[in-house]
Amino acid sequence: MTTDDKADRTVATVVVGAAVVRDGRLLAQQRAFPPEAAGLWELPGGRVEAGEPDVEAVRRECLEELGVAVVVGDRIGDDVALPNGMVLRVYAATLREPWAEPRAVEHRALRWLTATGVAELDWLPADRLLVPALLALL
Ligand code: C5P
Repeated sequence: MTTDDKADRTVATVVVGAAVVRDGRLLAQQRAFPPEAAGLWELPGGRVEAGEPDVEAVRRECLEELGVAVVVGDRIGDDVALPNGMVLRVYAATLREPWAEPRAVEHRALRWLTATGVAELDWLPADRLLVPALLALL
């Protein structure tokens, strides 16, 4: 086994998601790629890097994808298995500066959702499974 193989095997298997709530609304973002996911909605987030604490990954992903700092709270719901063998693990979050407006840096659009919006949105399959837990936040 080469060092590179070892590095590959230690790549994190967790994808973190952020359930960012402000004024009773949940933030969702619409994917622009890949083609099979484009147009569907997800919580902000992404792969945890090797050795990176989940909470740090949530903060990093929100900064990269939304351009805002967040304060990370409790875990929301159970881990959800993703088709690629990874798991989606979601944390509650709030904006560190509540007046800062998140931007769709890598995504097609952002939306602040009411409970009805959360229930009706065209989520990615893994995120959809978390809808009951997300509604409990609102
Ligand atoms: O965003 P990124 O491509 O790094 O995400 C890695 C994987 O996690 C993708 O397969 C994506 O569809 C999935 N994912 C998800 N729900 C999220 C964030 C990512 O299913 N909220």
